[in-house]
Amino acid sequence: MSRFMKRNLTPYTPGEQPRERKYLKLNTNESPFPPAPAAIARAAEAMASAQLYCDPAMTALREAFAAVYAISPERVTFGNGSDELLNFAFQAFCGKALFPDITYGFYPVFAALNGVPCEEIPLRADFTLAPEDYLGREGTIFLANPNAPTGLALPPEEIARLLEADPERVVVVDEAYVDFGAESCLGLTERYPNLLVIGTFSKSRSLAGARLGYAVGDAGLIGDLETIRYSTNPYNVNRMTQAAGVGVLESEDYTRRNCAAIAENRTCLAAALRELGFAVTDSKANFLFVSHPALPGDGLYRALREKGILVRRWSAPRIRDWTRITIGTRAEMEKLCEAVREVLKS
Ligand SMILES: *Cc1c(COP(=O)(O)O)cnc(C)c1O
Repeated sequence: MSRFMKRNLTPYTPGEQPRERKYLKLNTNESPFPPAPAAIARAAEAMASAQLYCDPAMTALREAFAAVYAISPERVTFGNGSDELLNFAFQAFCGKALFPDITYGFYPVFAALNGVPCEEIPLRADFTLAPEDYLGREGTIFLANPNAPTGLALPPEEIARLLEADPERVVVVDEAYVDFGAESCLGLTERYPNLLVIGTFSKSRSLAGARLGYAVGDAGLIGDLETIRYSTNPYNVNRMTQAAGVGVLESEDYTRRNCAAIAENRTCLAAALRELGFAVTDSKANFLFVSHPALPGDGLYRALREKGILVRRWSAPRIRDWTRITIGTRAEMEKLCEAVREVLKS
């Protein structure tokens, strides 16, 4: 920190994106599939007009999204990745924030950045979330559903309990992984004006590098996010990414097929790892969260790294013996299994 810095912040640490050697990257939950061909074509075409500012209202993208999700266009907005929208939500809706002790690592960072006090509510011993633990506590609730890095999902009825218990409290549901097999809360936004659902095109729609996230809610909540967005950067989603988003939304079959392939590979990998003695949570996401009694701490992470495979690990005491593995193609999962077998032998 230089002597000029007026803030004391601990930034988020993104997963490694190494340059020095070619790894099999199973550490940041990216898609193993390229973007839909229509997304690539539309983004390239949009680049030809990049001398002009993009549409700050994101009209074409908004209308394409509203049609696919059967909502009215004023109930959605978009961000430069869903991370930006989460940051906006912390700015707009938080006097205080509540979220689980084990969840997406960006929540405490956004809270600190925006001077929002927060309270971490411990997950139960088996990593499940009990909604009643949040009742009677003040604060805007942030829930990743499915949760990261556990992969466990709550049914929308459980989240509805929180929404009903206090209609004056905003609940933000981060559905980054919802397309891989969990049930979305998007339909609940019609009934609950205090629900904000945030999602991303980074994982199931293969656009992590293009940066596109969405927020859906009551027109009131979305209007408030728009106020923050226009106060920050009305051109937050660039021309090429807006066009890519439209192309992806024209390719829903492609997205569905990719998600089905990931879910199938997840089931196979979970079975293979359980066979090898791993504990594996019931993940509904595009990753598995695993631990093995013979491989405590960062043992698995380091051994796989030496074999050219990157996975994600944590140092927080409750999950320091756990590893998160992104689901890839069948061939990638076979390569991973082979490497894990070798690690267990040595
Ligand atoms: C990946 C992820 C995000 C962020 O996604 P971007 O749209 O790429 O910013 C948000 N929340 C969770 C839980 C994630 O895992």
